[in-house]
Amino acid sequence: MENCIMNTYGRYDVCFESGLGCKIYDDKGVEYVDFVSGVAVNCLGHSHPAIINAIVTQSSKLIHSSNYYWNATHKVLAKKLIDNCNHNKVFFCNSGTEAVEAALKIARKYGKLKDVKDKNEIIYMDNSFHGRTIGALSVTGQEKYQQDFRPLIEGVKKVNFNDIEDLKRNFDEKVCAVIIEPIQGEGGINIASAEFLEKARNLCDKYDALLIFDEVQCGMGRLGSLFAYKKFNVIPDVICIAKALGGGFPIGATITNVKASIAFVPGDHGSTFGGNPLGCAVGVAVLTELVDGGVIDEIDEKSTYLIERLLKIKEKYDAIDEIKGMGLLIGIKLKGDTKKFCKSCFDKKLLVIAAGDNVVRLLPPLNVSKPEIDEALDILELVISEINL
Ligand code: PLP
Repeated sequence: MENCIMNTYGRYDVCFESGLGCKIYDDKGVEYVDFVSGVAVNCLGHSHPAIINAIVTQSSKLIHSSNYYWNATHKVLAKKLIDNCNHNKVFFCNSGTEAVEAALKIARKYGKLKDVKDKNEIIYMDNSFHGRTIGALSVTGQEKYQQDFRPLIEGVKKVNFNDIEDLKRNFDEKVCAVIIEPIQGEGGINIASAEFLEKARNLCDKYDALLIFDEVQCGMGRLGSLFAYKKFNVIPDVICIAKALGGGFPIGATITNVKASIAFVPGDHGSTFGGNPLGCAVGVAVLTELVDGGVIDEIDEKSTYLIERLLKIKEKYDAIDEIKGMGLLIGIKLKGDTKKFCKSCFDKKLLVIAAGDNVVRLLPPLNVSKPEIDEALDILELVISEINL
C-alpha cells in the first residue's frame, strides 16, 4: 500500500493493531511489552474496561456540542480536577501543546492587565520540551526542535535549568511568567531541584509573574500524586496537563488559580473540540480509576520495586551510568548509544523510548503489575548483557 503518512517521525518497522493491559500486538499477532504507553498516555494500559465503557456510553448520548453551551460532562471533569488541586478554573483543549499555548496566552494577558509597561516576557528552561506549535516551540529549550522554524515568538528568555543565579539574573518586573517542567521528560528525565522551584515561586511572587508548571508528561499520577507539583511542595499558578488525562483519548487542560483565572474573558481563547462530552467522559473515567480506584496509591511502591531492580542491573553491567526519575517516570542513563539500545529492546519485544541524548525512558502504564515489571526488566537485562554500546 502507498505510504501517505507525512514524514514527521522516525518510525520502527511495525504496525500495531490491538492491545491489552501493558501488552500490544502487531498485525501479525506478535506480542510486545509496552513500557512506552503511547509516551505516558495509556496510563491504564490498553483496552481498559472503564475507558471502553465511557466511550460506548457517552458516544451513544452526545459526542460533541459546542463551547457556546454548557455540557453535562465538562463540568464534572473540571470539578473532579479542581477537587484534587489548589486551583479553581479549567480550560479544556485536545493536546499538551495546546494546554501550553493557553498557559502562554494567560500569561501574556495577565501581564497586560498590570500597570507595568511591556510586562510580556516569558522565561523558559534550557533543555525543556513544551510542544510543537509555534508558541510552545518558542519556549522549548532545545535547538534541534527550534532551528528550522525561526522566527519564533518574541519576548521569551531561556535560563539554565536548576540554575538559581541565572533565573535571578533574568528576572525583573517585565517578566509575566516562568514555565517549568517539574521533571523534564523529553529532555532526559531531569528533576527540578526543590530550591530552584522554591526560588522560581518566590521570584514570581516578588515580580507579580505567573508560575506555570508543564505537567503534560509528569502529571496525572505518573509521579505518585495526581498532580506532579504535590511531590515538590511548590504550588504553581497554572498547570498544563494532557497525555494521561484521557488514557489514550485526546484531551488536554490548562488549570489556573484565582489570580491567573481572571486573565481570560469571553473571546480571549477557545477550542472547537476542547471539553467535548466524549473526551470529558473518558477523563472522568480515567480520574475515577486513578484516584478513587487506588491506582495512584500503589505507584510509590511499584516505583521502588522497579528502581531497586534497575539499580541491581546497574551494578552488574558497565553500560549504565545512572538510574534517575520518580514514580513511574524512570530514566536509564547509558554510557553508549540509546537508539541502538532501544532498537535491541524492540527486537526482543520490549518497547522503551529515548529521552535526551543518552537516556532511555521507561513509562509503564500506571496500573502495571510487579510480574509485568519483572517481565520487562528481564528483557532489558538480557539486552544489556548482550549489547556492545
Ligand atoms: N509538554 C510536555 C512536557 C511534553 O512532554 C509534551 C509531549 O511530549 C508536550 C508538552 C506536548 O504534548 P502534545 O504532543 O500532546 O502536544
